[in-house]
Parts: sequence; structure tokens; C-alpha cells
Amino acid sequence: VEKISQNLNGIIGGVLPLIQTDALEHGIKVAVDLEDSLPKLLLNEKEIKQLLLNLTRNAIEVMNSNGVLTIQTRHTKTEVILSVADTGKGIDPDHFPKIFDPFFTTKEDGTGLGLAICQSIVERHSGRIEVKSKKGMGTLFQISFPQHPVSK
Ligand code: ADP
Ligand code: MG
Repeated sequence: VEKISQNLNGIIGGVLPLIQTDALEHGIKVAVDLEDSLPKLLLNEKEIKQLLLNLTRNAIEVMNSNGVLTIQTRHTKTEVILSVADTGKGIDPDHFPKIFDPFFTTKEDGTGLGLAICQSIVERHSGRIEVKSKKGMGTLFQISFPQHPVSK
């Protein structure tokens, strides 16, 4: 896929209105915390939008009204880190190993494809995706993109 050197914050800004509308309809607050001086990354804009929409959709679906969806960016010397966090019910420890499997869903009308697609998008950007979740507290998806990916 075609990647262009750009700021991740810009892509977030592009999908934010959509996410805000979705959240507002569910009575959910969106907290956006983007780091000012984020280094540019080689990104495919469509894929990163898809990644953001899949993660935020899951977050919104798992929360009751008065939940909070947090979207954050940070960077280290070597990476740019995107975090998407919710205050929902968390992921059942039994489900943890399966959530990235295609067609794994705990929803009546779920496709189970959202996270599988996220994982392949992150892989195509040479990144890593990590999940932390606590029952009744919420879930955090953290994606680390290398600033200088080694081309394969
Ligand atoms: P779908 O949303 O269609 O179920 P996904 O691949 O997006 O498929 O997610 C797979 C499963 O992972 C969900 O059905 C749910 O059990 C779990 N999951 C994903 N995101 C969250 C989240 N933010 N909080 C709790 N569970 C989640
Ligand atoms: Mg989903």
C-alpha cells in the first residue's frame, strides 16, 4: 500500500468529527490528547482512518452513556504511540487470546473482523498493537509505530 510521510495527528483530526458524532449519539465524551511535536511517519491515510474507526467503534459500543473515549498520541526517540482507551466493561480474560482472530465476536450482530483488520493494518506499518484491559474498568489499545521502519 502507498504510504506518505505525514503527521498522525492530522489523520486523527480528519476522522474526529465522525467519531464525535458517533460518541455524542451514545452520550459518550471524547477526550483528545494529541502531542504537539509529533514526528512524521510513513502512513497510508485510508488504513489509519480505518484503524481509528474500528477501535473507536468498539470502544463506543462497549460503553454506557457517561463513558469516556480517550484518543492520545505520544512519541519516544524511536516510536510514535497511539492510544485508544475506553471506560467500558473490559475484555474477559478468556477472550483475550482470540480478539484478533477473524470472525471472533461476542456481539449478537458482530462480524468479528474489526480487530483482525486493525492487526493487519498495524503490521503493514511495521507497528505493534498491545491491549490492556481490566474487568469493569475499561480497555486500552496501544499502537506503536516505528519512526524508521526497516523495510522488508
Ligand atoms: P466485532 O466488533 O464485530 O465483535 P472486533 O474484531 O472489532 O469484532 O472485536 C472482537 C471482539 O473483541 C468483540 O466482539 C469484543 O468481545 C472484543 N472487544 C474489542 N474491543 C473491545 C473493547 N474496547 N472493550 C471490550 N471488548 C472489546
Ligand atoms: Mg468491532
